[in-house]
Amino acid sequence: MTEKMRAMVLTKLAPIEEKPLKLTEIDKHEIKRPIEILIKIEACGVCHSQLHGIEGDWKDLGIPPELPTVPGHEIVGKVVEIGDDVTKFKVGDRVGVMPLLESCMKCQYCLEGKENLCESMDVLGESLKGGYSEYVTASEDFAIKVPDTMKPEYAAPLFCAGVTAYKAVKASEPSKNKKVGIFGIGGVGHMAIQFAKLEECNVIAVSRNQKHLEVAKKLGASEVITFNQDQEKFLEDLKNKVGLLDAAIVFAPADIVTDTAIKSIKKGGLVVIATVGKIQNFVAFEEKTIRGTLIGSREDMKEVVRIADEHNLSVVSEKYPLEQANEVLEKLKNSEIEARAVLIP
Ligand SMILES: [Zn+2]
Ligand SMILES: [Zn+2]
Repeated sequence: MTEKMRAMVLTKLAPIEEKPLKLTEIDKHEIKRPIEILIKIEACGVCHSQLHGIEGDWKDLGIPPELPTVPGHEIVGKVVEIGDDVTKFKVGDRVGVMPLLESCMKCQYCLEGKENLCESMDVLGESLKGGYSEYVTASEDFAIKVPDTMKPEYAAPLFCAGVTAYKAVKASEPSKNKKVGIFGIGGVGHMAIQFAKLEECNVIAVSRNQKHLEVAKKLGASEVITFNQDQEKFLEDLKNKVGLLDAAIVFAPADIVTDTAIKSIKKGGLVVIATVGKIQNFVAFEEKTIRGTLIGSREDMKEVVRIADEHNLSVVSEKYPLEQANEVLEKLKNSEIEARAVLIP
């Protein structure tokens, strides 16, 4: 008989207040190919994009692609079993997995080290393989080593929030004293502040939430500005406090934020959009550049783990038991999570 495991399963897209995730005993994943490892999950971060998926906001984008699913796409855990051909890991090693659970390894993107753009990738948390659960299997090629010294609640958020932040900051072409605005300070934004600081940028944090701005200040943002739906007021405030920005990075999935970010940069400046976002107004003659990013590659991920370890980056996280996934997502929706929540099975 197949062994069972606990998982928070999504069978129907619904507002989180209706508690759509149900604690369910599902078949424990088993190693199916010789290159796979079985991971006992120690922690899974609760990402904001997961909330959008669960509530059906991103249905038109094909997220989630099927139901039922077990959400959760940034995990860290221990290898408890390895397939016959596994060479990179042994039982007892600690690993993390990003949303990128697997890609084809054959297409142009994969061959160029841009596997996060592969057309036929599998995403963790968009099938029954997800992090809001006890075990998951992964190909050894898509698991990333995590130092034994890193706590689970520290390491897990690196695997989506951390790598997304890192990639976006890199895309903003950071350099010393460059004035970079970070729009949206949550799980991802609080990491981005630190990556931008490491590049000696002058970081301006923007959020509508006071609590998040406090976090931003603590992490070294040189100025924090409250986001205002009234765009003119916001831009006036920005100009008074710091002047127009050299670059802006958008993590808040709202078109008004993207639009405001574009208007917040100088002519010739650069906007990085690291979330879903439509561009409403784009004036070619201002010579601005708009660039999109999606998570990051495995090489980026390795860099994030290395940098976090070496520079002792802060991961602001709070722990909750797996069973409280609905409640945690509701808190996230109501901006009651300081930066990142993690679920512990
Ligand atoms: Zn995520
Ligand atoms: Zn591919």
